[in-house]
Amino acid sequence: MNSPIYLDYAATTPVDPAVALAMSECLTLDGSFGNAASRSHFYGWKAEELVEAARSQLANCIGADPREIVWTSGATESNNLALKGTIDARAERPLHIITSQIEHKSVLDACGYLGEHGVEVSYVAPSVNGDVSLAAIAAELRANTCLISLMHANNETGVINDIAALGEFCRDKGILLHVDAAQTLGKIALNVAELNIDLMSMSAHKLYGPKGIGALYVRRHPDVRLSAQIHGGGHERGMRSGTLPTHQIVGFGKAAEVAATNIDEEKARIFSLREQFWRGIYELDGVHLNGGKALCLPGIVNVGFDGIDGETLLMSLRGLAISTGSACASATMEPSYVLTAMGNSSEYAHNSLRFSFGRFTQAEDIDTAVESIRHAHAALSPKLVQART
Ligand SMILES: *Cc1c(COP(=O)(O)O)cnc(C)c1O
Repeated sequence: MNSPIYLDYAATTPVDPAVALAMSECLTLDGSFGNAASRSHFYGWKAEELVEAARSQLANCIGADPREIVWTSGATESNNLALKGTIDARAERPLHIITSQIEHKSVLDACGYLGEHGVEVSYVAPSVNGDVSLAAIAAELRANTCLISLMHANNETGVINDIAALGEFCRDKGILLHVDAAQTLGKIALNVAELNIDLMSMSAHKLYGPKGIGALYVRRHPDVRLSAQIHGGGHERGMRSGTLPTHQIVGFGKAAEVAATNIDEEKARIFSLREQFWRGIYELDGVHLNGGKALCLPGIVNVGFDGIDGETLLMSLRGLAISTGSACASATMEPSYVLTAMGNSSEYAHNSLRFSFGRFTQAEDIDTAVESIRHAHAALSPKLVQART
């Protein structure tokens, strides 16, 4: 059997060949394998030079100063550091955080933990279109609100939130803004200065870089105070200890550079794949685009199929690697909390699948996907099944 066509780029992406090459040069004796914290010899200096070059590559990609980048193990850790680190750095109690119901689990669970430790947390519902409005967030504001955490784009629906408006609001009110940008880094324009972001979580593996490396942007002017969550040798200006993984960091830097160089071209190409995909299936009976009325990332299409169970449909689409909701939610078989928060029934949420496209998706892959979906839809469509029985 041929390998299935990979249409799950929102879960993770394959590493770009240019990234893999750069990483492979940081591992062996004849490469830059040194410890960037070794200040006494050539190998340490070389590793440090590469780590700092990568820091600049990532900073350039988001309009930041390299000194505002803290390396982490991924967006999960970055989200934890941003949320817990902000609270731990403040003496006042009680403090209040505003976030949304459709955040990634790493934000929701970190907020849940803080909630158990005396922090007040408001979880704002999204609109039926899947975006979280400034008005809904502003309605939750309290005198002790110190942080607002909102994702740039949702990983299940691809719906993009208006961070610029929120950034202006937060600046006026003197509240910190944390943004989970795991899905948008290198995919759409993202400038921390223009958007007034104070803290921003990023991950390499959503961007054709390796897994296990991420970063947190931490604003310097005005200075964001953050307490470390991992203590040790005082790396990363004391914000995140641990020997820096040179190969991972070099890979992340290269991935950011490649993405930034081709961002407009790639966005246009993937958008046309999305159009091709949707054109192929939109007229099928009972097919709906989830979050379709909002501004969306080009690479994510979340589709509901009335009366067809998502798991059953998934079985009929064995030639495609896709997911029901997000990768994390599919492990538990729970209906997507993102789709239910948007006002959908849990039955409908179970009837929805996420298709996501990326750098290596070809027009022929979309043709194959469309054909398989049309075929499966015809076989499983409730009307036809009823007519036959
Ligand atoms: C993938 C993802 C994360 C988690 O990133 P990791 O680097 O895998 O820990 C967090 N938030 C969003 C929106 C994501 O898509």
